[in-house]
Amino acid sequence: AKDLGRNRICFYSQARQAIVNTRSAMAVDIKTGLDNDEFSLYLQPQVLKNGSLCGAEALLRWLPSNRTPVSPGTFIPVAESTGLILPLGAWVLKQACTIVTDLEKYQLPENFALAVNISALQFAEENFIETVKQVFDDTGASPSRLKFELTETCLVQDINRARNIMKALRNMGLQVELDDFGTGYSSLNSIKNLPLTALKIDASLIRDIEKDEPSRAIVRAALAMARAMSLKTIAEGVETGSQMAYLNTEGCDMIQGYLFAKPMPYEDFLSYLGRKLKI
Ligand code: C2E
Ligand code: CA
Ligand code: CA
Ligand code: CA
Repeated sequence: AKDLGRNRICFYSQARQAIVNTRSAMAVDIKTGLDNDEFSLYLQPQVLKNGSLCGAEALLRWLPSNRTPVSPGTFIPVAESTGLILPLGAWVLKQACTIVTDLEKYQLPENFALAVNISALQFAEENFIETVKQVFDDTGASPSRLKFELTETCLVQDINRARNIMKALRNMGLQVELDDFGTGYSSLNSIKNLPLTALKIDASLIRDIEKDEPSRAIVRAALAMARAMSLKTIAEGVETGSQMAYLNTEGCDMIQGYLFAKPMPYEDFLSYLGRKLKI
């Protein structure tokens, strides 16, 4: 029994070592990938109830040369745990600002804004606000064309600091949304005093709308709560017409999901925009 125990410990630590090895190998690849322009932003449209375009979410893609694409679900956690999300996130923000500046050439809907995911590590940086201001100065992007998607992990460490950062972002003219709503643990009470503009209801809550009443009740309650706090609402991962219909009747403001469009390269988004604006 003793031997078995030792073997097991040995097996576990080997397995753990293997994970550490792949992670650090991938970290090296992310770093070189950033130097070699292997990353790009895909855009996924967001629409109002009536189907008109009101925004898009910028989603990071890694297309390593000569290799198969790596999904964000795989490389983002590695980037988070190695700190590489900081240079990656800086690249994303600069790229997003460049994109919205370019988009001004077209007849954008007045309310159009591009959503950018901000990692908790970025948010926690001491000079976060200065960095953000610098990017807007450098690119000439209009802050009102950007919305930052923050997760609850941004809020847990220091809620007072989080509130101040959010205020500063709002004062610059940015919109601030709480992402993945319904998946976290933070108390509802703690978000009531935050200068948020919108709640983004997580795909996991949308998925079961058709299946059971408790899921519908949760979505309905989230929408009612957002309304009571004068927040806009957006649902992600909307795949079916009946999910859309439910969200519409319950007063969800914006919709994002495969039902309308998948995330797409910028060039494709421009064609999509062309088709949308013609209507
Ligand atoms: P997220 O912020 O919750 O983004 C929504 C995810 O749902 C995206 O996955 C999107 O492609 C996917 N999605 C959208 N509509 C549908 C749908 O109708 N059905 C299904 N099944 N999926 C849908 P993606 O692009 O793989 O990104 C995964 C996660 O990686 C994101 O989840 C976000 O947490 C993170 N991420 C992506 N880009 C960035 C980035 O630039 N910075 C940071 N910090 N995180 C990012
Ligand atoms: Ca997001
Ligand atoms: Ca989500
Ligand atoms: Ca997210």
